[in-house]
Amino acid sequence: MAKMIIGGRLTDAQDGRTIEVLSPVDGKPFEQIPRGGTADIDLAVAAAQAALAGPWGKFTATERGRLLQRLGQKVLDHAEELSLLEARDTGKPMTTARNDIQVLARYLEYYGGAADKVHGEVIPFLNGYSVTLLREPLGVTGHIIPWNYPAQMFGRSIAPALAMGNAAVVKPAEDACLTPLRVAALALEVGFPEGVLNLVSGYGEEAGAALAAHPGINFLTFTGSNEVGVLVQQATARNAVKCVLELGGKSPHVVFADADIERAAPIIVRGFIQNTGQTCTAGSRLLVQREAYEQVVARVAELLAKVRVGTPEMDFDCGPLVNASQHQRVNRYVNNARAAGLPVLATGSLAAELPAGGYYVQPVFFGNVPRQDALAHEEVFGPVLAAMPFEDEADAIALANGTSYGLLAAVWTENGGRQQRVGKALRCGQVFINGFGAGGGVELPFGGMKKSGHGREKGFIALEEMSTTKTLVHYHG
Ligand code: NAP
Ligand code: MG
Repeated sequence: MAKMIIGGRLTDAQDGRTIEVLSPVDGKPFEQIPRGGTADIDLAVAAAQAALAGPWGKFTATERGRLLQRLGQKVLDHAEELSLLEARDTGKPMTTARNDIQVLARYLEYYGGAADKVHGEVIPFLNGYSVTLLREPLGVTGHIIPWNYPAQMFGRSIAPALAMGNAAVVKPAEDACLTPLRVAALALEVGFPEGVLNLVSGYGEEAGAALAAHPGINFLTFTGSNEVGVLVQQATARNAVKCVLELGGKSPHVVFADADIERAAPIIVRGFIQNTGQTCTAGSRLLVQREAYEQVVARVAELLAKVRVGTPEMDFDCGPLVNASQHQRVNRYVNNARAAGLPVLATGSLAAELPAGGYYVQPVFFGNVPRQDALAHEEVFGPVLAAMPFEDEADAIALANGTSYGLLAAVWTENGGRQQRVGKALRCGQVFINGFGAGGGVELPFGGMKKSGHGREKGFIALEEMSTTKTLVHYHG
């Protein structure tokens, strides 16, 4: 059975309760995890507070960075073991899981390298004074992460927090938390002091809610659904705790008639089938200028028809969805769209021999989706692409900005002026021009506008989010 990590110890839940972990491949149990709750969160927060008051609080930035880099190397040393665990837990194809473990290592290396490059400022003030702006840790940081990219999300969340000298309590999703649990155990092996990195597995309504509402945390970052994001923000508000939210998206590709369609089409397909569509930045809307609409959708459909879904070992383009409720959710959207008569332009195919009981779906591409349709607005979180034509630049911008989300977008055009105009007019946290990186880029500041959330992760900016300043005013005459 997998163990939680609290105060430097591998442990079960205080009350001994457990959760069966089901495999997305066949729906069967294959592992157990502790069902942590309020008592475990209390212990983890206390352990983090003790770590800050202990040796960790005295570590230099260089020492913190070195430890993170050592953990990055440890992850690389264990890459195959961790990739197998990640694939088993989430159902991802092996190639995707291997990539995710490399990205986890990159987060640890990047923030490890950055730790001692963050410095404060000297502020000119009155004669006789010296004023220094110091960068300081926030204290205990809480991290509630989802099941879609457990390894990547874990690295992205904890690496900047620890680089800045905080102590972390992580609540991963019970659907997929085996890799974070294992990596937190490896962190002890490379020498992180006890209590610096605590992981409490369990249900969101139990361990997650207890963490968000805990008066002992000083910061919380949450990635997941809008509904729970709002709950979490309410809970942190009661304790005046800063909260970063990374919620959903309905990210558009905006394809103008002059675009390089041969370059765009495979990237568009990858952008919505990646991780079987379970990606907050999935490019799930394909907006195409009317003159090129038929040509673009035909090329995308042609490529989608070659996409295959299988088990992690088959290592095709997609694996199963993560769990039964996700499976029902995606099927509901697809069945509603089919029942409403939306044209199916193409589907991917399921492998011939798939284990019974797994959560497999065919990727599907709908054409001429009405602008008010659910598929034009709502995040499916599955491999479903909705195409819509637009008339001109102004119409493209209105359509692209016409959902409550604002996470990511791509603009496809060879016209330099239009690249800049449209790029600047889109209301979202990242815009790619003639490219698309769903979730990619350890170095690239990332986060939402509008209902996609607030606060930034990735890049150097995460070091600012996960720290605070102190203005030291010194009168010396
Ligand atoms: P979710 O419930 O928002 O889960 C995200 C995280 O929050 C998990 O660790 C979850 O724990 C935890 N959580 C759940 N209820 C909580 C509560 N009351 N207080 C504190 N933490 C809580 O998302 P989901 O149900 O797994 O997925 C539903 C939909 O959310 C998806 O279909 C998708 O649209 C969206 N989603 C978005 C992202 C993203 O990357 N933006 C990621 C995942 C899901 P447990 O899962 O262990 O209960
Ligand atoms: Mg699982």
